[in-house]
Amino acid sequence: MSFSTGPEAVIADGVVGVFHYHLTDDEGTVLDSTRGEDPMAYLHGRGAMIEGLERALTGRAAGETFTVRVEAADAYGALVDAPEQKVRKNQFPKDFPIEVGQMVPLEGEGGAPLNVWISEIKGAWVTLTRNHPLAGQALNFEVHVVGTRPASADELKHGHAHGLDGSHSHGH
Ligand code: ZN
Repeated sequence: MSFSTGPEAVIADGVVGVFHYHLTDDEGTVLDSTRGEDPMAYLHGRGAMIEGLERALTGRAAGETFTVRVEAADAYGALVDAPEQKVRKNQFPKDFPIEVGQMVPLEGEGGAPLNVWISEIKGAWVTLTRNHPLAGQALNFEVHVVGTRPASADELKHGHAHGLDGSHSHGH
């Protein structure tokens, strides 16, 4: 691995942070976890992480472990009181992964991006909601910082991390 695993560098803007997380709700139900998987790599300061988690990661060094409870407002937001929408499965592009919890990027008024999520699939019909699956919930993270590294020029230009060591290439 080509990232620093010592305390000499800390997570800051323009730094790629690599960390493991274990996410539970207030009842202790596991919502997501990188345990047994590769850690997460992200470019700090570009909004890749939910606000409350990014803030808690700021200034952390490799080897640090901490827990943070992030209120819904600093995570996926409060529940929005907007009507759900039913659309037919065949309105999706052929290769679109139609699964509950999948985000669907739409365009709102004036072409502004409007993200919705699949909340139900029944027969030929798919229900879309304005609420992220984790909206309205406080999130509890156990975090272990694995390492840090400076972002590459490409990563800074793209605004996101290219995998753990920055070598992950993709089509843009
Ligand atoms: Zn990229």
